Amino acid sequence: MIIRARTVLTMDGAPIVNGAVAISENQIVDVGKFDEIKTRNAGKVFDLGEQTLLPGLINAHCHLDYTCLRGKIPPQETFTDWIRAINAEKARLSPKDYLASINEGFAEVRRFGTTTIANLTAFPDLVPQLTSPIRTWWFAELIDVRTPERAKEIIDLAIESLKSAQNWGLAPHALFTASKGLYHRCQEIAQRANVLLTTHLAESHEEMEMFHDASGPLYEFMKNIGRPMDDCGSTTPLEYFLKIRDSSNALRSARNDNDWLIAHLNELTDSDFKLLERSKSRFNVVHSPRSHDYFNHSQFPFERLRSLGFNICLGTDSLASNENLSLFAEMRAFQRREHGISAEDILKMVTVNPAMALHQENTIGRIRPGFCADLIAVQCSKGDNPFEQIVGSDGSMDWIMVNGKM
Ligand SMILES: [Zn+2]
Repeated sequence: MIIRARTVLTMDGAPIVNGAVAISENQIVDVGKFDEIKTRNAGKVFDLGEQTLLPGLINAHCHLDYTCLRGKIPPQETFTDWIRAINAEKARLSPKDYLASINEGFAEVRRFGTTTIANLTAFPDLVPQLTSPIRTWWFAELIDVRTPERAKEIIDLAIESLKSAQNWGLAPHALFTASKGLYHRCQEIAQRANVLLTTHLAESHEEMEMFHDASGPLYEFMKNIGRPMDDCGSTTPLEYFLKIRDSSNALRSARNDNDWLIAHLNELTDSDFKLLERSKSRFNVVHSPRSHDYFNHSQFPFERLRSLGFNICLGTDSLASNENLSLFAEMRAFQRREHGISAEDILKMVTVNPAMALHQENTIGRIRPGFCADLIAVQCSKGDNPFEQIVGSDGSMDWIMVNGKM
């Protein structure tokens, strides 16, 4: 099959005007000018007319569990109050509610042109009951704050449930809810098998206060639920994370550095940046612009992280702190804040960059022969820079192809 469009954005250089992509089964086999593609390939032509064809988008951080919490939690005074509020909402939900919520989320991300998602779930046991309509990396969100002695058992149970999924990973929730032992074990598993890791780190000012000063609302909250607080009062969250990471790295391999996809990093001190400059490690980072604004976090240090060579991606986070699951809206929100970056580079943050973070830089995120046929088409007007138009688009679309299927 040949798909023609007025503009094709391959993410491999300049836009192709009057371009086309040849597809065989679930793979891209050719891309170029329509005339050349027609000469080189047989098959029916599907004409997208004036639309722009581009790779399907990749959401690098989401919790579809909480799709049903849209609009339920207004912004709170503190991050800790938000944790209390979401815990209260979660107490009302049953496994059936979560299944419906995840399915509703899948339908919504797809509507907004997302063909791959890195999705954290607190309920890995539900995964065997779900069929994802897009490419999904299931990350088991792991918390052992009340039962650190059960870390191994918690991880083993999650892995058992995720085995049925094609792509999965492990997500120690955050330094304040997952024990050092749990982080260590996840890292050992990642080193042995080809498993990706993600975690929330240095998200809020309260997390910084907890680890650095042993004070503040999050510190008090965690202390009250029985967390041992002897690791608080001397370190920044990033410093603590790097310490944990490096102390379990007896078996450290070269590819280990980019196993981690780190969400947030809003709170970094100058000493943290010195640490990052000295350390050779360049893990992947995911920023969620609208969830960041909802919480009114400190400014995300995009330019500083980018200049150090970090691979930075965008994600929506969950609807407990966002209004919809559109990556187009995330790109627009990011562009409003960051003026030093081109629209093309912003589009890379939802295509090429997250593909790299998922170790899929040779299969998704670009339109290139041999890559998966994950494509979307967006209505654009003639003339203007197509990258600008895509980033400025409201994300409504009526054509999407996932794994070769329209
Ligand atoms: Zn999250």
